[in-house]
Amino acid sequence: MGSEYDADLQYLLDKEYREKARKQFDKDMRQAEATAKVICRIKAKHGMTNVSGKTECPLCGDDVLYSVSAINGHTMGKCVNECIGWME
Ligand SMILES: [Zn+2]
Repeated sequence: MGSEYDADLQYLLDKEYREKARKQFDKDMRQAEATAKVICRIKAKHGMTNVSGKTECPLCGDDVLYSVSAINGHTMGKCVNECIGWME
């Protein structure tokens, strides 16, 4: 009938899927954490002033280029290696 084989295959596929999902989740968490860290750093430094600059990326150590809006204090930025990127 092959049902045992199918069950094994299904188990392996599920396992692979779960591992992929977990890796993706870990990556998303690291990105979210790094982005939050950088935004806090920028806001603490500039508050609500029109400014652009660069700061260190927590993930790769390269530059994150960012800008802050004086109107609402919103920030946007992006790592030069695209580890993180956001727009408030
Ligand atoms: Zn980076």
